[in-house]
Amino acid sequence: MMKEGYCPNCDARRKLLVKLIDETYPVRGEPITIKAEVAFCEKCGQDVFDRELDSANLERAYAEYRQRKGLPSRN
Ligand SMILES: [Zn+2]
Repeated sequence: MMKEGYCPNCDARRKLLVKLIDETYPVRGEPITIKAEVAFCEKCGQDVFDRELDSANLERAYAEYRQRKGLPSRN
C-alpha cells in the first residue's frame, strides 16, 4: 500500500510505503503486540507518523486485548 505524506527527515511531501511491522501498544496497562501498519518515506526510509494508520493500529490493539480477555467486541 502507498500513501502520501510529510516526511520530517526530508522536510518535504513524499510517497510513503506502508509496511506491516510488530508493534507493542500498552492497553490498560498490558503490552499488546500486533501487526501494525507503519508508513515509511520512500526516499530516505524514515518512519513517518500517520494519524489514520495510527488510530487503525490502536483499534487493532484494543480488539486483540478484548479477544485475549474474552470480552465482547463492543465496549
Ligand atoms: Zn524522507
